[in-house]
Amino acid sequence: LNPSAAAEAPPGWHEADRAHLIHPQHHPVDHAAPVLWSRGEGAFLIDAEGRRLIDGLSGMWNVHLGHARPELIAAATTQLQQLAFANTYAGASHGPGVALAEKLSEIAPEGIEAFFFTTSGSEATETSVRTARWFWQSVGQPRKTKIISRDYSYHGSTGVAASVTGVTEFSQGFGPPAPDILHIPSPYPYRFEGTGQEAADLLEQAILREGPETVAAFIAEPVQGGGGGVIVPQDDYFPRIREICDRYDVLFIADEVITGFGRTGHWFAVAHWGVRPDIVQFAKGITSGYIPLGGIGVSGRIKAALDAAPPAKRWWHGFTASAHPVACAVALETIRILEAEGLAERAARKGKHLLGRLHAGLADHPNVGDIRGLGLLFGIELVADRTTKRRFGPETDLAPRLRRELFARGLSTRVLTDVICLAPPLTTPDAELEAIADIVTGAIHAVL
Ligand code: PLP
Repeated sequence: LNPSAAAEAPPGWHEADRAHLIHPQHHPVDHAAPVLWSRGEGAFLIDAEGRRLIDGLSGMWNVHLGHARPELIAAATTQLQQLAFANTYAGASHGPGVALAEKLSEIAPEGIEAFFFTTSGSEATETSVRTARWFWQSVGQPRKTKIISRDYSYHGSTGVAASVTGVTEFSQGFGPPAPDILHIPSPYPYRFEGTGQEAADLLEQAILREGPETVAAFIAEPVQGGGGGVIVPQDDYFPRIREICDRYDVLFIADEVITGFGRTGHWFAVAHWGVRPDIVQFAKGITSGYIPLGGIGVSGRIKAALDAAPPAKRWWHGFTASAHPVACAVALETIRILEAEGLAERAARKGKHLLGRLHAGLADHPNVGDIRGLGLLFGIELVADRTTKRRFGPETDLAPRLRRELFARGLSTRVLTDVICLAPPLTTPDAELEAIADIVTGAIHAVL
């Protein structure tokens, strides 16, 4: 296949794809509806047959500023010309890395002071878990190694990250899971009775069961994304989580890989509940997906431990591409645009409106169980029976049918078994946001 022809549906692309490209979560069943994307323009993806679809998931929950922004292309090009790469080991640094860390210290959740960069969200999870455990041993509590996570969570596909993930498919069949990781139920207002505080108290019970002297950290996505299908907790959940973590000296890791950088209406979603994490992890939207970058930010207490360790017992952690200068330059420009265009505030405003439109079009449908969202992040959970909340199982073909119907109506997005997920670019024009509500409503009425 000639890659330069790839923008024009080269003959044979699908056969070559099937034969040679292993996709994320690979399975040949997915080849029933092949699509070859060739261009992006603002909120649209354009395929090789010339079909224009609204990008309802911002790529993979990451293209916050839409496609083909000239400023981001210019930021990458300028940095590539000036310094494509230099490492940041052993006292070396570079402008984009320093500037990005400094800028993040202004917009990060309160108390987060210093930043380390990875290439992906999975590496951010690895880094958080290693850092939490390292921190406790460095301050004389080496028994604090356990990580408590939640059901329905998704934290990545590398070894530790997949074990931290609360969807068991990701760790089964890949050998033994990483040790010292346990899961508690997540708050799931639609499915579990009770308040957010009651759901949070399950964390306290787990800490007491395990022994607080053995628990390093609790990790949670402020809004669960890819594991459960955009589950928004009750407002009283995270404040109670913070209290419990303080009571037992357990670090709180907020995984803001999907929710960061304005997606839910604040720079970071923990601001909705006024809670302060000890570690915040991010990726995806920080560069609007134009080039991979992830990382973590840590509190002053953790930074002090990093600085106080004897040289031989330092934090032995780092990647070749940590603080990649081109990725840092694109991130700085992404943050500048998010700020200049008030896109977090816009996400809050437009998100409320779109949620209202989805409710108006779907609330009476007998198979619509729950319509939920925060900012421009939504989940529409479909049920076989609304009274009993019985699920459409993975054995049904609901997800591919819905995906095809949405696609035919002009929207590309992700359907996780029985939840339609939506996370359009924060720059999506009003007309396309209205179109998303119409298309989703029409597709559900057509399929069910
Ligand atoms: N954490 C969360 C909350 C995510 O949603 C994801 C990816 O979707 C990850 C971590 C892993 O990120 P990556 O796919 O960049 O490794």
